[in-house]
Amino acid sequence: HEPEAVPTEAIREEYENLADLVRKYRFAYYQEDAPLVSDAEFDALFRRLEEIEALHPELVANDSPTQEVGGEVSAAFAPVEHLQRMYSLEDVFSLEELEAWLNRAEASIEKIGDGGATAAWLTELKIDGLAVNLLYRDGKLVRAATRGDGTTGEDITHNLLTIKEIPQELRGSSFPAEMEVRGEVFIPSKAFAEFNEALIEAGKAPLANPRNAAAGSLRQKDPAETAKRPLKMFVHGIGAREGLVAGSQSETYGLLKEWGLPVSPYFEVLETRDDVLGFIKRYGDQRHKLLHEIDGIVIKVDDFVTQRALGNTTRVPRWAVAYKYPPEEVHTKLLDIQVNV
Ligand code: NAD
Repeated sequence: HEPEAVPTEAIREEYENLADLVRKYRFAYYQEDAPLVSDAEFDALFRRLEEIEALHPELVANDSPTQEVGGEVSAAFAPVEHLQRMYSLEDVFSLEELEAWLNRAEASIEKIGDGGATAAWLTELKIDGLAVNLLYRDGKLVRAATRGDGTTGEDITHNLLTIKEIPQELRGSSFPAEMEVRGEVFIPSKAFAEFNEALIEAGKAPLANPRNAAAGSLRQKDPAETAKRPLKMFVHGIGAREGLVAGSQSETYGLLKEWGLPVSPYFEVLETRDDVLGFIKRYGDQRHKLLHEIDGIVIKVDDFVTQRALGNTTRVPRWAVAYKYPPEEVHTKLLDIQVNV
């Protein structure tokens, strides 16, 4: 979009109303783990906000929802400052938008020249769960936090320790002295269905969807409650990494796996665009046969030097993008039933 003339009063009003609505929906989603609208509806509002900002950049304030990572920190948990900021992801909603994103990214990578030689894409499933940040010092898990607003998250260490596959101590001895491991906590689809069946049998309201159930489960005040929920985690990133010797994200996943962390079995490193499109198609077709719910595919520059050279905006990395599958009926239907997290 090319910037246009001065925004009219009507545009200003639409913009302010939209920004308020997005803040309200984010609060319900992140703070209360109880969304008021479907993700597709939310995404459409957010997109309209971005559109207006592209046309009228003078409207963009520092506290615009587009400039912030969407989570908030509840007073029910101790605040935790992440060593390195946590980001959201830029979304694209069609294969045409993805092609345009890849064109831009490839052009930027070309400009970097020798510094960012490789254009290999690390493709992963976009797990529909809750982002967490695990801090390991000298191989010991010292703290776990939610993403929060990206800078400060919520201390959920005790709740996270109820997830069996997350090691309190890393295996081996070659791990960095200090390392932030990022991942997604989720409830596997099958376990979610069983958990809901049991709730219904007990005359209780079922949980709305696996994502909000996972978020609600991890943000319980009593870890004993969290322990009753069938939570799992897969690693999908790394933050602070003092002394990590690895040239790429995929190489890092290999190391994290050796050290005992749960790495997703679904990621691939792909050289060509056709391979990336093939990955999207393949997982789109088998979307409901996977271990967990997905709402899309994440495509990342694998090489660390190139990642660093591309950098981040205040909200998202410039070296990654999330392709979102078209929304499905079932989401809105599920939201009609009573929410209980
Ligand atoms: P996002 O979910 O689009 O993308 C960022 C997040 O993706 C990361 O923080 C991480 O937690 C997660 N993720 C999952 N798999 C990943 C992988 N393989 N690699 C990297 N990250 C991975 O962005 P967001 O800022 O967390 O939230 C926006 C999402 O939340 C949208 O899907 C939106 O629809 C939804 N939302 C819905 C409502 C609502 O009212 N329904 C409100 C707010 C947000």
